[in-house]
Order: sequence, then structure tokens, then C-alpha cells
Amino acid sequence: MIELKSPAEIDRMHVTGRFVAEVLAEVTRLADVGVDLMDLEHHARGMIARRGAESCYWDYAPSFGRGPFRNVICLSVNDAVLHGLPHAYVLRDGDVLTADLAVGIDGWVADAARTVVVGTPAEEDLRLVRATEEALEAAIAAALPGNRLGDVSAAIGAVAHAHGYPVNDEFGGHGLGRTMHEDPHVPNRGRAGRGLTLRPGLTLAIEPWFARTTDRIVVDPDGWTIRSADGSRTAHSEHTVAITEDGPRVLTRLGQL
Ligand code: MG
Repeated sequence: MIELKSPAEIDRMHVTGRFVAEVLAEVTRLADVGVDLMDLEHHARGMIARRGAESCYWDYAPSFGRGPFRNVICLSVNDAVLHGLPHAYVLRDGDVLTADLAVGIDGWVADAARTVVVGTPAEEDLRLVRATEEALEAAIAAALPGNRLGDVSAAIGAVAHAHGYPVNDEFGGHGLGRTMHEDPHVPNRGRAGRGLTLRPGLTLAIEPWFARTTDRIVVDPDGWTIRSADGSRTAHSEHTVAITEDGPRVLTRLGQL
């Protein structure tokens, strides 16, 4: 079921979204050569506790995970791309790190992810990260009332194609609001002009992620961490976006009113 949100409810999601953006900015600022992933996890925990926010990940136990998840942030390094389980790992020069965070404040959820390169970046890694950011902006631009969900998916797929990256469509974006995962699913590739008509009040987490040379994935024995099947590096960019009468409204950009 798809629940359309009122303008007042979208404003409340925006309060949460700004906080998600602040935490991601802080975690990615702290991520550096020699920093342990668990330090980043604990920093996020502290910010969430001080804000009185509720982690959507803590105790999350979907059918696919070897749950429950006992962390507040997903940290995925290099070939890991989604649901990376924070663990004792010291970041190295050139590592590609994705931080993905979803929390609720006063019952309203927002979800976003950023990928950064730690230390000295390889040009090919920067290209991959920028491609996911470009795909995210293209998808947001397509999130107009009256457009179809397929327009959003096709916008992501077109950017991936232009850069020569394959696209996996098992894991993509999703509706959200009162909970982290609501209908509809937002595939990272699709056909323009097809699918659900976008209406004001629809709120979506849009999240292109690409691996450099494969569209296949494997899951770690921890039951959570999803990696590229061929070990190639990955990147992931995500915003929570509301479709409004005036166009797309990004709820998880830092400092945006
Ligand atoms: Mg997310």
C-alpha cells in the first residue's frame, strides 16, 4: 500500500532528513586513514542518542539478514555496497566507504547514503562515486508529479549506461515515511513512461548504486553485507525525496530549508 503524505507530514520528514544529513556529513568527515569503522558506528550512536532519534537499523530483522542488526549505521567498504555490517576494520589509504543511515524522529523516517574515498583516491573510484551522484540527481529531476516511476528508474539506468556500469535491479530504492521500507520498490533501471504515476505526497528513498564491472552480488556469511560478485569496487548515493506540486523536494540535503 502506498501512503501519500500531507505537506505537514513532509515537513516532519524534512526535520528527520536534515538530521540524517548532519550525521552522514560528520561520519564521512571523520572517516580517514587509520580510523576504525566501529569508531564511526559509535559516533553515529552518540549523535542519535543526543538527538533523541530512533535508529531504524537497530534490531532490524528482515528475512534475508542473520539478524537482528545491532548497529545504527551501515558502513560498506570497497566491494561491499549495501547493508555493510560495522566491524573492527581500520580504514586504509584509497578505501571507498559508503555510509547509509535511516532514523526516525517523532515517528517520521528519513534515509540517505553517501560514498567517499578515504585518503588518496584512485581516479576510477572517483568516477564511480560521481556516477552514482549524477544518477541520483537525474532521478530526482525525473521525480515530477505526473511522471511515472519508470522515468525515475530509467534516469538512473541511463547514467549508468553512459558511464559503462552494469546495473543490478534486485536492490533499489523504496517508499518510506512512518517506516523505513514502504511501497513502492524503485528499481535502478526501468522503462520511461511505465509504472506508477507519481503524485504529490509520494515520498521515496532513491538510491542508485553501481559496481564497476558486474551486476551480480554476493552476501557475506554475516548475512548482511552485500558485495559485488567479482570483487570490483562499488559506490552508492541516496536521498529521501518528496514529490510535491512544485516538483521534487530533497529532504536529506545538508542545510537545505
Ligand atoms: Mg538507506
